[in-house]
This record gives sequence, structure tokens and C-alpha cells, in this order.
Amino acid sequence: MSTVLIIEDEKELANVLMAYLERAGYEVYLATSGDRGLKLWQEQHPDMILLDLNLPGMDGIDIARRIRQTDDTPLIMVTARVEEVDRLLGLELGADDYITKPYSPREVVARVKAVLRRVDSAPAKEPSMIEIGDLQIDPEAFSVVKSGTAIELTPTEFLILLTMAEHPGRVYSRLQLLESTQGVAYEGYERSIDAHIKNLRAKLGDDSKNPRYIETVFGVGYKFKKAVE
Ligand code: CA
Repeated sequence: MSTVLIIEDEKELANVLMAYLERAGYEVYLATSGDRGLKLWQEQHPDMILLDLNLPGMDGIDIARRIRQTDDTPLIMVTARVEEVDRLLGLELGADDYITKPYSPREVVARVKAVLRRVDSAPAKEPSMIEIGDLQIDPEAFSVVKSGTAIELTPTEFLILLTMAEHPGRVYSRLQLLESTQGVAYEGYERSIDAHIKNLRAKLGDDSKNPRYIETVFGVGYKFKKAVE
């Protein structure tokens, strides 16, 4: 059974929420002040926290910061003011979701479920190192080593290489590769990928005509070779 800690000073609201969450099968702890909330968090290690922003004493932002110093307990921030959400996002508190008041308890339960599902299905640990032929690609360090020698890549070049190397043999369009470097891709800029691929090949010592790593797929894009000899 998953446990949820509610930190909320409006008691009536908190009780309604508690009832809904319990009916949905969660074990619920309730704190009506920030200090009490932190204490419960430390004692009970809840699976997730619903955190009201405006609290007497230690407020929600302080609490979120305090929690994030230690761990990544999923956090849903609750605020009475819609316009606060932008500011909260800017503070980068590492919240997993935001809910604005007034809310329906039903909606809150749905959000709690969604966040917990996301956390549960996330792989416990990303594969740390990709080894293909004589290349070692470290996604965490953004580093590439070829036959024991480090290769200096720009972050963009690295992300393009990583994207393709994670799925050797899969063909990527220029737009997809552009997206992997920026999160969004603008049509019309796809050709900028060609320049990055050219630099990548030069740094890896690859030959476009007789490629060892990166193959051009004419009319489509690029792929990392399935087998590197
Ligand atoms: Ca409040």
C-alpha cells in the first residue's frame, strides 16, 4: 500500500482529501503545519507528499527545498493562486506536479495516482554505460571514449550520438535528431544536423563513404551501424 503525506493547514479541506485518498486505497498521514509535516516525512518516509504552499511557520517552498536536499520523494505542490504556478516552476523545486485550489478531491486522487504510477514505472537506474565496438559512451558524464582515448564533443554532438547509439540500426530523421538535442524541433532547421554529423564523424575518425559508426540513410536521415567491427 502506498503512503501519502498531506501537509495542509486547512483542516476541513485536509480531512476531505484524506477521506478520498483512503477510499482510493492509500495510507494517509496528515500534518497541519510545516514543522509537523517535515517531522512526519522524516519518521514515516511516505511514498508521496501533497504539499500546500501557504502554511503557518515553515512554508511549502522551504519544505520542498528541505526535502530535496535529502531525497526525491514525489511531491505535488498545492497553491491557492494560479499565478503562483509560474513562479513555482521558476524556483525549480523539483515538484512532480502542481494543483491549484479550489480543486476537486477526485482530481487530486487522479494526480496522485498518475505521479505514483510514473515513479513506479521509471527504471530504477538508467543504464550507465553504452559500449559499442571500441566506443564507450557515458550518458551521465556526457563523455565518449574511443579505444581508451577521450573524444571531446559539444553537448549537441553528444546528444545526437547518444540518441543513435542507444538504438543501433534504427534510422532517425534529421528532425528527430534535432528534437533529441533541443526537446523541440523546428522544421526548416533539420539541415543543421548535417553539420553536427560531419563534425561527429571527423572527431570519431569516421568516414562518410565507408562508415564505421554513423551511416547516412539517403532521403531519410542517419543511423548508428548495427554492428561495429
Ligand atoms: Ca494553506
